[in-house]
Amino acid sequence: MQVKTTCPYCGVGCGVLATLGDDGAVSIKGDREHPANYGRLCSKGTALGQTLDLEDRLLKPKVHGQDVGWDIALDAVASGFKRTIEQYGKDAVAFYVSGQLLTEDYYVANKLMKGFIGSANIDTNSRLCMSSAVAGHKRAFGSDTVPGCYEDFELADLVVLVGSNTAWCHPVLFQRIMAAKKQRPAMRIVVIDPRETATCEIADLHLPVKPGTDIRLFNLVLTLMAARQKLDRVFIDQYTEGFDEAIALAVQDVHSIEATAKYCELETDRVKTFIDWFIDTKKTVTLFSQGVNQSSYGTDKVNAIINCHLASGRIGRPGMGPFSMTGQPNAMGGREVGALANQLAHHIEFDEAGIATLGRFWNSDSIATQPGLKAVDLFRKIEAGEVKAVWIMATNPVVSMPNADQVKRALESCELVVVSDCMSATDTMAYADIALPALAWGEKNGTVTNSERRISRQRKFLPDPENAKPDWWIIKEVAGRMGFHGFEYEQEVDIFREAATLSGYENSGKRDFDISGLKAIASSDYDQLTSFQWPRVNKDDTGVSRFFSKGEFYTPGRKANFVAVRSGQPGQEADSQYPYIMNTGRVRDQWHTMTRTGKSPRLNQHISEPFISIHPQDAERENILGSDLVRVTSRHGGITVRANITQEQQEGHVFVPMHWNAQFSADARMGAVVNDFVDPYSGQPEFKHTPVKIQRYAADWEAFLYSREKLALNDIGYWTVSRMDGYWHYELAGQGNVADAYERLMLQMQGEQKTADLQWLHYQDSGTRTYRSANIKDGRLASCLFAEPSHQLPSREWLQSLFELEELSQVQRNWLLSGKSPPGTVEQGAIICSCFRVGESRIRDAIANGATSVEMLGEQLQCGTNCGSCIPELKSLLEHDVEQADHKSGNIQRQAIAS
Ligand code: SF4
Repeated sequence: MQVKTTCPYCGVGCGVLATLGDDGAVSIKGDREHPANYGRLCSKGTALGQTLDLEDRLLKPKVHGQDVGWDIALDAVASGFKRTIEQYGKDAVAFYVSGQLLTEDYYVANKLMKGFIGSANIDTNSRLCMSSAVAGHKRAFGSDTVPGCYEDFELADLVVLVGSNTAWCHPVLFQRIMAAKKQRPAMRIVVIDPRETATCEIADLHLPVKPGTDIRLFNLVLTLMAARQKLDRVFIDQYTEGFDEAIALAVQDVHSIEATAKYCELETDRVKTFIDWFIDTKKTVTLFSQGVNQSSYGTDKVNAIINCHLASGRIGRPGMGPFSMTGQPNAMGGREVGALANQLAHHIEFDEAGIATLGRFWNSDSIATQPGLKAVDLFRKIEAGEVKAVWIMATNPVVSMPNADQVKRALESCELVVVSDCMSATDTMAYADIALPALAWGEKNGTVTNSERRISRQRKFLPDPENAKPDWWIIKEVAGRMGFHGFEYEQEVDIFREAATLSGYENSGKRDFDISGLKAIASSDYDQLTSFQWPRVNKDDTGVSRFFSKGEFYTPGRKANFVAVRSGQPGQEADSQYPYIMNTGRVRDQWHTMTRTGKSPRLNQHISEPFISIHPQDAERENILGSDLVRVTSRHGGITVRANITQEQQEGHVFVPMHWNAQFSADARMGAVVNDFVDPYSGQPEFKHTPVKIQRYAADWEAFLYSREKLALNDIGYWTVSRMDGYWHYELAGQGNVADAYERLMLQMQGEQKTADLQWLHYQDSGTRTYRSANIKDGRLASCLFAEPSHQLPSREWLQSLFELEELSQVQRNWLLSGKSPPGTVEQGAIICSCFRVGESRIRDAIANGATSVEMLGEQLQCGTNCGSCIPELKSLLEHDVEQADHKSGNIQRQAIAS
């Protein structure tokens, strides 16, 4: 059975064909008919089939850790919320929801909180990734409207990527841009990013700006556009307001090209080139993402970009416009239904008329009358005891929020914590008084909206596992038990019809989001619904690709607003105590807190350990060597991660990935380190700018352990675990005597592996303090442990490859505890191409033997020929001198991280 559905990861929103085989295996392909990806999938999408097992799933409701039936759990939630409201008022309860929810789930959650409980204390984790874009859109356009579409990237002559590692974070959109550039080499690409990321592989110009200086750069564009008389005066006069104020403040901000270049720490010639290209290229698209949004002045950054597009009239026309990429698969769906605490539903404003409209539609006199608590404030109020009951749905704030130890404290002290999730073991679930098992991707039905306003179906192709239920069902059952009417939905299409009807209710063109053409959609049509871009006012409309080419903005006067902005200051500057600025972000093959991607051996091959990228000068100053462990500390908390020393990182700045948490590493929740300064307009936290100090973590010993069984290891100073193909990979380190550590680890291993027919091999040398063991069962390698003083461990790749074998040869057994491959063995090296498991050593061999292009590497090794996510890294290997690579033999791949 083949089902058309949508990828559950990033905001590109790729169409997926999922086929459930008779044996229960699921195969995944890109949907060639889906306009977001036309058949392409990235490494994460391609590996979806490896993430669907039921291991670690939450499959039964629990109250205080005890399995219960749904009635007991739902009654407990409903009575807990009712009791809290009666005792402390409606603002003493809150929902914290997620861009992983489907729009139907989101709609019901928002309706319950804002429409019937009467509080607006519902906020979504999308607050963390794109609320500054929402605020910037609303200030400029009067509405949260993305004016363009993905096709614009292919039609543009200049694509400017600001604060976006598109190659890793939105890989299929990146592939579309890459393909367009290949077809039209004259098309130019500019990357504005402090880091030299994989995205720079296709850049004609990289501007490694000093973090946070982008406003001045775009203000310079605006002022020079005016000075060179390249403004679109007709567009400005007819369709906008506030230009004079915006240009006046921009002029005050920038002074000159040279002064701006100095302020942004850029070469003047690069700034001049960018300015010339931007001003002289009509078809320009500016994509911005978290590097812009996650700042204490992110909204102003968004408006600085939009100002340049309004001033040149480059908006809403093919190949032109500002474009916000959302992080999550349904962040946009949340924006539609009002899951942000400062929005009502369906782009209806928090004003008297909007509140009355919703009251009439929902037949409720309890509509929330003022915005609720945004995410950071919400968890502060929980800790302060003002919010006493919280329901967290499909998200993991103990990992992903800034100042995440504060979130722990808040949940510890909260009187009632309800968590709905599909996973049983998450850092947040540990605090749940009531745990509710939700369906996961492949099991649930509904719609999602991607970054170009395209609504697509997510479809079910797997049965409900045990007692797990759809989120909308759980919410509507609680609403009914709280005594509210209007939640009598039987299936997803009932919710979709109601939401579509609301979008057109008392609208008459006042609001951009209108899909009322589908308000009477038949169940069978909903089942068959093909993707479309909103709005869709009539049933047979195909949707609208672009907004605003002829004005018609959603402000009272229907004119766009220029917003006067000037360079801002981060919440906290570096100082002598915390001298480095920590940036955070994604890696290519992991998603959010790894609850799903962490299950995929293929994805874990790419980068399997949390790390910190450090410039070589900074590493030298701090006495940190490549592959050392590093303690990273801010005023809020600390983490311990592996050093990745790289020229691609600017001096004084470090980078840490956002994904790792207590399920995968001893102490790598970057949220614990991140400060909780927020943008004053959007409330979005400043994930890109936290002052930290970095210190070498002086491990006395290090070890790696591979085991076919998952082990519960205790009392280890540093550990990470990742699931590989048929075995688990642990990296371990600690202080004290290596012999004692080895003995402890051996006892734990032997305790877990009690099978009698294991053959143990041991090697110990107390002189060099080298301790190694392996065991073999039925001729197969079952586990191995290597423990030694720091920096002495051998390369892992050959040992890892032995776990793929059904039987070890005598030669392999002989060489096993040496950790070295027998002479003549061709080693893979660190995996670069996840799809075909092609390692760096083989790629470098091929390059040394004459491969000069990605295509030639693909022909010889297959790498880069499936999902294409590794192509930027292949290009990087082709371009860079192999000798200069600061490659280390451990499991962090230099190229994978730094390029
Ligand atoms: Fe999924 Fe990758 Fe497409 Fe994003 S780009 S939606 S992660 S397949």
